[in-house]
Parts: sequence; C-alpha cells; structure tokens
Amino acid sequence: MSGSASSGPPSPASDGARHNVVPDALPEPLFTESQIAERVGELAGAIAADPRLTIRPALALVALSGAFIFAGDLLRALYKRGLDLPVDFIGLASYGTGTTTEGTVRLTRNPALEVTDHTVLLIDDIIDSGHTLNFATHHFFDAGAVEVVTCVLLDKPARRVISIAPDYTGFQCPDEFVVGYGMDFAGEYRGLPWVGVIRPPL
Ligand code: 5GP
Ligand code: MG
Repeated sequence: MSGSASSGPPSPASDGARHNVVPDALPEPLFTESQIAERVGELAGAIAADPRLTIRPALALVALSGAFIFAGDLLRALYKRGLDLPVDFIGLASYGTGTTTEGTVRLTRNPALEVTDHTVLLIDDIIDSGHTLNFATHHFFDAGAVEVVTCVLLDKPARRVISIAPDYTGFQCPDEFVVGYGMDFAGEYRGLPWVGVIRPPL
C-alpha cells in the first residue's frame, strides 16, 4: 500500500470495540458493480484475443491480496471467451509503514507453478507509483518467463515514479484512496462489491 498526503489511507478507527462487522463509513462510489462487470467483460475479450497468451504456454499470476476478486471475475470471463489459464498467486509487499512509497518491494509468496518458458498474465488491483508492477515484471523475467502481460483494474497515473504502463487497464483512477472489490483499508472493505473512495475525517 502506498499513499501521500493527498491519497494516503486515513487512520484506522481506534475504538477496537466492533469486530467483523460492515464498517460504518460508506465509501463514496467511484465505479459501480455494473460498470466493473461491463469493463471486465471488455478486458476479457481483448486479453483472450492476445496472441501472446495463446501461442505458447501461459499462466495467470494474481497479486495478493487486493486483486483476488478482480482476478476471480476476469478469469471466469476469460474462460467464457475460450482462454483457460492455470492460476497461481504471488505475494508482493512494499517495505515501510504503508503511508509512503519507498520503492522497495519484497516477495511474500512465490508462486508454485513453473514460470520458465511461459507467458505470464500478471493481474493486480492498482498501479500507483509503478514499483510493484515493475518489481513483479522483472521477477518473472528473472525466473525465465518469455513474456509478461500486465493487467490492472485501476491505474492511478498521478504519482507514477517508474515509467511503466500496464498492457490492460480497467479504469483510470483519480489520486484518491480507494477500497472495495477486493481492495482494503486496514483489512476492511474487501467484500464491498463496488469501488469507492475513502477520505480522512475532516
Ligand atoms: P505501487 O507499487 O504501484 O505504488 O502500488 C501498487 C499497490 O499499492 C497496489 O497493488 C495496491 O496494493 C496498493 N495501493 C495503491 N493505491 C491504493 C489504493 O488507493 N487503495 C488500496 N486499497 N491499495 C492501494
Ligand atoms: Mg496490489
């Protein structure tokens, strides 16, 4: 997770009294369920027609944890369009406090599936500074991947540090902290079926 004064995550609630309940604060809607579903279908149509994913062995690698719901929908949409990829998961985390992007990414879970001589479809939730996608792409090439095709649900170009553009992007995203559809704030909101913005209390 990364952020700045403008889009860093608000401080977590500190009362500690309520557990595993739907948070009180409803995020401000940014992308609705139907907008996301329509866009996922469009992405799947384009990705299923991408020859890089069909001319040689390919697999999908899902960046944990924020991409898990997006990936679930995207992979089913790909299957319906004739592309059935093996799926594995990669854990990536930024060093630091979570409120600043320090540019150092570490691997917290290595995929078990073989990457060598494969095309990797990397699925992530958001590209922000670009460090995470850049790290993952280099990691897969170092592991012997012949091609890395990147797909993100959201692109936040405002604070890009690394000049890297995903091959497939769901939506351009404003410089805000977003939650829902798999993405959390302090562990909350992952199950929210749409994407919304949360802001620190004024
Ligand atoms: P980057 O390395 O590109 O700066 O950061 C990418 C990662 O930071 C994303 O994969 C995501 O895990 C996290 N991230 C960046 N912006 C947001 C945001 O607005 N909301 C949430 N929940 N995570 C974010
Ligand atoms: Mg992520």
